[in-house]
Amino acid sequence: MAIGTEFHKGAIFFDKDGTLVENIPYNIDPNKISFTPGTDRALALLKEFYQFHVVSNQAGIALGMFEEEDLAPVKKRIREMFSEFGAELKDFHYCPHHPEGNISSYTFECDCRKPGSLMLETAAQIHYINLNASWMIGDILDDVEAGKRAGCRTIFLDVGNETEWLPGEFRVPDYIVNNLEEAALLILSNRSIKI
Ligand SMILES: [Mg+2]
Ligand SMILES: [Zn+2]
Repeated sequence: MAIGTEFHKGAIFFDKDGTLVENIPYNIDPNKISFTPGTDRALALLKEFYQFHVVSNQAGIALGMFEEEDLAPVKKRIREMFSEFGAELKDFHYCPHHPEGNISSYTFECDCRKPGSLMLETAAQIHYINLNASWMIGDILDDVEAGKRAGCRTIFLDVGNETEWLPGEFRVPDYIVNNLEEAALLILSNRSIKI
């Protein structure tokens, strides 16, 4: 552990759609949000050791399908779902951009859209997160790349949502799992190995 990072906690960065919650494309209805299988167990296992963050591409904003304000009830609902399991969602980070959007103010190549790592790096600055002690979990390889670029370890949730399988040096996950409980158990076993 580098000097000066002792007091910095690690974080779990969850992709939102298809990873933390069931994948309903461009959904902004809080009543349709539900955790994927094993997420409740994962939160219970990890909450003592890690901050929880969502890092989500929300291209629906650039595409004109909904507005940034429409994410407020989504964030609120996910926070409530965390608290139902005694866990805290520390922050919800999203990228509203897309290079081929319809809304000009959101249509450009940004650094925050995954596979870029800016959302994770910004979260780390705001919340004093040690990225090297953190994990990114996602259901596509862009999530893996974002996590690796930020210096996190990565877990790929293999539930059939990756379709392109583009290769790359940052696109090889540390682990592949079928649900978030498996991910949590792997994260905990890595902690015990380190000690
Ligand atoms: Mg996803
Ligand atoms: Zn962006």
